[in-house]
Amino acid sequence: MPEIDRMFSPRTVALIGATDKEGTVGEATLKNLLIGKGKHSVFPVNPAHETVAGLKCYPNIAAIPEHVDLAVIATPAKSVPEVVDECGKAGVDGVVIISAGFREIGAEGAKLEEEIRRIRARYGFRLLGPNCVGFARPSVHLNATFLKDSPEPGSIAFISQSGALGSAILDWASVSRVGFSLFASMGSMLDLDFGDLIDFLGTDPNTRSIIVYVEGIGIAKKFMSAARGFARTKPIIVLKAGKYNTGAKAVQSHTGALAGDFEVYDAAFKRVGVLRVDAIGDLFNCASVLDSKRLPSGPKVAIVTNAGGPGVVASDKVTDLGGELAKLSEGTIKALDEHLPPYWSHGNPVDVLGDADVSRYETAISTCLADPNVDGLLAICTPQGVTPATDLATAVVRLAKDRQKPILAVWMGEKGVAEARRKFAENSIPTYPTPEEAVKTYMYMYKYRRNLDLLYETPNELPVDLMPPNSHLKLMVKKAIADGKLLLPQSDADKFLDAYNIPRLSGGFAKSEEEALMVARRVGYPVVIKVVSQEIVHKSDVGGVVTNITNSEMLAHEYAKLIDRINILKPDARIDGVYVQKMAKGVDYELILGSKKDRDFGAVLLFGSGGIGVELFKDFAIGLPPINQVLARRMMEETTIYKALSKGLRNRAPANMKALEEVLVRFSGMITDFPEIAEMDINPLSVAEGKVFAVDVRILLDPKPVDRSTPYPHLVIMPYPTKYVVPWKLEDGADVLLRPIRPEDEGIESEFINGLSEETSRYRFFNIVRNLPHSDLVRFCNIDYDREMAIIAEITEGGRRREIGVGRVIAEPDRRRGEFAVVIADQYQAKGLGRKLVDMLIDIAEERRLESIFGVVLKDNAPMLTLCKEMGFTLTPEEDYMRVELALKVDAQRQPTSQAKPLPQEEHHQSAKELAQ
Ligand code: ADP
Ligand code: MG
Repeated sequence: MPEIDRMFSPRTVALIGATDKEGTVGEATLKNLLIGKGKHSVFPVNPAHETVAGLKCYPNIAAIPEHVDLAVIATPAKSVPEVVDECGKAGVDGVVIISAGFREIGAEGAKLEEEIRRIRARYGFRLLGPNCVGFARPSVHLNATFLKDSPEPGSIAFISQSGALGSAILDWASVSRVGFSLFASMGSMLDLDFGDLIDFLGTDPNTRSIIVYVEGIGIAKKFMSAARGFARTKPIIVLKAGKYNTGAKAVQSHTGALAGDFEVYDAAFKRVGVLRVDAIGDLFNCASVLDSKRLPSGPKVAIVTNAGGPGVVASDKVTDLGGELAKLSEGTIKALDEHLPPYWSHGNPVDVLGDADVSRYETAISTCLADPNVDGLLAICTPQGVTPATDLATAVVRLAKDRQKPILAVWMGEKGVAEARRKFAENSIPTYPTPEEAVKTYMYMYKYRRNLDLLYETPNELPVDLMPPNSHLKLMVKKAIADGKLLLPQSDADKFLDAYNIPRLSGGFAKSEEEALMVARRVGYPVVIKVVSQEIVHKSDVGGVVTNITNSEMLAHEYAKLIDRINILKPDARIDGVYVQKMAKGVDYELILGSKKDRDFGAVLLFGSGGIGVELFKDFAIGLPPINQVLARRMMEETTIYKALSKGLRNRAPANMKALEEVLVRFSGMITDFPEIAEMDINPLSVAEGKVFAVDVRILLDPKPVDRSTPYPHLVIMPYPTKYVVPWKLEDGADVLLRPIRPEDEGIESEFINGLSEETSRYRFFNIVRNLPHSDLVRFCNIDYDREMAIIAEITEGGRRREIGVGRVIAEPDRRRGEFAVVIADQYQAKGLGRKLVDMLIDIAEERRLESIFGVVLKDNAPMLTLCKEMGFTLTPEEDYMRVELALKVDAQRQPTSQAKPLPQEEHHQSAKELAQ
């Protein structure tokens, strides 16, 4: 069992700094720990006492006669490094440091933290804190916090960076009777951070949704991977503090100036399907509804109410929040006319009037739900005199059963509707005291669903070369950094565009009037000239751009004037020359496409309305590289200019959207390949007669050396791993391409699965699988290459690509073991492909330092079992299947988490590769 699991379900807990002294953290924590005494044993540690709370008290952790799973430390900060070291020596699995007095108090505290970090790395246990409230798991009766009250058990996990806010929220939750599977306060996140906790909770059966209060995310890459892994099965809802504190930094590009923390966090959350909310109450509202199977598939709401006022309030709110009031179909209106009194509202909101009885109310709701124009329904009840509030609730509960469309209940008032609310809660129907809250939640539900849908939409194939030759660019970058010329001149930046096939205007650098005339002759008049100088970033700001030069005399004249002007306006700028560029005609739209490096999330992309007014429009969207066609389209859709681009505006033609998508994807590829790019703007990226081309390109390099120990140090999402693309031959000589699967492969993957024989299908899936829906296929094709790898074997037949086999290995969240599976199309079996795929998976697993890979094979699947035996797997019979497992070679350089443990026996076995040779 990994340390983190033992730490969160300990059988033995030591409290270091335990005391009887009232009002202390040590006393409060001990009390809480003792609540669950039957489930785990508690050992107080304090050299000053013989007994505490009537229990034997130990002088130090070494004196405890049993192995300690979890140590909670509540001693003064100065003593903590030593205590932590003792915990390490005692072989604990996890430590919680509640003590404060570290980074938050300044340099001295930070030094203590550093020491603790070093000690932890030496032993490899997991650590929560310091400076935190601790954690509680009501489901296992564990409360390792100093909170006044114990949270109730439930299915929501709550992770909070701020301990104070955390306890305030718990206080509120206990009044509202919200229960938790886990509460953890993160503190300074010296080790465990949001990514680790989400990974842990992702597989925790007691947790159905995860709510997070975050100030800073910790290791963003870890967070992204964990969140993406579970966002589809467990909703993750985040409240991020600090909307307005975008720390102003010196930036040279428009992208740098525009893409603040808030926007980048937003884009990152969206990218992994995390829902961001903006109020504490929303965290809980969403936690209880997002895990339901009934999420609205659209924004169109029908409102059924027994009072006019609340209906109007609700419909206003719908419009405010970007929802739509469903337009009821004629059929629905007619049906309602038949059943409702003549004075009903004859539209949405459907006002069934104050004297409505159960049957009238029920008919109105079921009629609206049946209307295809309705995506979801708000049922509002305001008790008025005779209204049978509870019976109406019972009716709604009945109607909500086995229906896909969500119903949200607003039963206004308090005492009179308490019984009704209880009914709703019991039947998992979201219920609210006001229409505003209900509408807000509905919109969150819709946003969440839509985000997941879009995220896993199947992208179209784009003709984009993923690996253009770029070594000449790498050389250029190296030289520029060595020379300290961090701002690349456009003539160099052009080479990037050319390599990545991003269309641009022709142009060239000229260091004299004569050269300028030559370039102009080559590109053809009219031309534009632009000053080139390391010291000038925004050229037109200093009169450094002259457009529409129609002939050579004019060019000579304007050239001289430009140089004079700059000499006056920017006397200290060294002018290298000018860039002479073809003048674009008939430009309909000016856009910006850029990138910058964010402190937490690394390289980000920006797309929006461009030109010289770019910082004025503030019309842009942020994305994280790498992006594919769908993600590119999505970024564009988020901007205001998108509508004009895709549809045209007055007499302006629309842009070639496919070409635009391609430009975005290629740009993302370029940013992926060059961690040295600190900031980059293509501004404008212009569109004329639908055609897209770059006009002004600015690349600013990062003088900091790039950390080459990881493949993409500047990205938080693993790009398509091109290194696993290998041409290969079947034993009969047929050509095969082996390559990692992509989201775009959904079509061929589906065809492949459908084409398997019943036997082969059963061997792989343990039953016969046909026509998987999109939601299942995306799980196979749209994968996180950081924790999972699927290699498909592809052949080309008559110009069509076909999948003939696939091997997959999925790392467990703690990255120690990986589960693998291989399946080959029937006609291609016994041609060496299975062995080749298993071989590749072993290589990949070894490279990722997994300790072993394992698989589950049906007992009658003789070919697979033979192959596994030959490749050195150990076979263990289980009830219905064979478990096959292979220990892998692990380098001496281990991840710190398991350093303290002796290496398990199997690790000394030969690797399967050696055995197979
Ligand atoms: P900077 O952004 O440094 O001021 P640009 O090269 O972007 O310099 O030029 C400023 C503006 O001049 C552009 O936003 C664009 O509107 C216009 N412009 C520049 N080059 C051309 C060109 N070749 N054809 C047409 N318009 C141009
Ligand atoms: Mg510009």
